[in-house]
Amino acid sequence: MGKDICIFIECKDGNIRKTNFELLSKADELSKKMASNLLAVIIGKDISSLADGITSYADRIVVVDDDVFKDYRCDVFTDTMEKITKKYDPFLIIGASTITGKDLFPRFAARIGAAFISDATGIELDEKGLKVRKPIYGGKIISWVSPKNAERVVITFRPNSFAIENGKRSGEIIKEKIDAEMDPRINLINITKGQSKKVDLQEADFIICGGRGMKDPENFKLLEEIAEIIGARVGASRAVVDSKWRDYEDQIGKSGKTVSPKLYIGCGVSGALHHTMGMDTSKVVVAINKDPNALIFQYADYGIVDDLFNILPALKEELISAKKEG
Ligand SMILES: Cc1cc2nc3c(=O)[nH]c(=O)nc-3n(C[C@H](O)[C@H](O)[C@H](O)COP(=O)(O)OP(=O)(O)OC[C@H]3O[C@@H](n4cnc5c(N)ncnc54)[C@H](O)[C@@H]3O)c2cc1C
Repeated sequence: MGKDICIFIECKDGNIRKTNFELLSKADELSKKMASNLLAVIIGKDISSLADGITSYADRIVVVDDDVFKDYRCDVFTDTMEKITKKYDPFLIIGASTITGKDLFPRFAARIGAAFISDATGIELDEKGLKVRKPIYGGKIISWVSPKNAERVVITFRPNSFAIENGKRSGEIIKEKIDAEMDPRINLINITKGQSKKVDLQEADFIICGGRGMKDPENFKLLEEIAEIIGARVGASRAVVDSKWRDYEDQIGKSGKTVSPKLYIGCGVSGALHHTMGMDTSKVVVAINKDPNALIFQYADYGIVDDLFNILPALKEELISAKKEG
């Protein structure tokens, strides 16, 4: 039985996603404790050069670069990961809980018969083995889960769960040619990429999120202006997205994105469970709501009970003068 750790490196628009460096940094710490080797796997088309950027984080970087991997397909990526797992025999396979990760890893874990823990936010290793931190019931309870008698373990972590450290390894790049099987039942007709140039919500360190309390799509300009000053990304509740005030890519929550920023500011967001499930692991939560009983205050480190149209313009002015003063 293998004991190595394998990180699935997810690429987007020709770059390695930031969250992978978080995973590589945490895996580096774990692999030292487990006295195991660190393997990174990059699958895609024209991605070979990206391997150079992670040689300091892994002992071996397996690159699978082929036309067939141009677009993500669950069948092809699952099959490739299975073949790599059989060849390199890692014990622990780690990936990010992104849209792709949520599609790939349950399928892949089932295929290889591994214990699977999804959407985790932490991991520890003690004399009893691995302990994985996983929020449940919409973050109301933090559970610690341990894989039992498993030959292999697959875990996905929410972006922003770990700090990025500098890598100190000098990994070997290995080019693999994998004959990935396509499921004939899947016919990928076309992929239309959105035009958005926005930072991925899941990778944003700071998020300012507007809910229905913003009253009008025009009022989101105020959030954009504040976001610009503090380098934040604007998010939205589903009520806002359903009203077509913001695009779906901005939606945080059960049917949107799961985020774990350093700072989440909720403006006119009630804090319904389906929303908080997507943001409850934010490091610091600030809530602005005129209803003192709004559920969002149960998650807030700092709460402001007031009309957001009083608070946000004042906040913007404060931020501008603070920036001027340096
Ligand atoms: C299956 C399912 C999946 C779902 N998925 C998601 C999801 O992914 N994401 C999500 O967000 N929701 C989701 N929902 C919907 C969710 O249950 C809530 O309906 C939604 O989050 C409410 O959005 P909101 O907080 O913006 O609006 P509201 O609940 O209407 O809250 C608006 C808040 O603004 C406050 N407010 C109003 N005016 C002001 C003002 N001037 N100043 C300050 N505060 C003010 C009010 O006090 C209120 O608390 C889902 C629901 C279901 C059933």
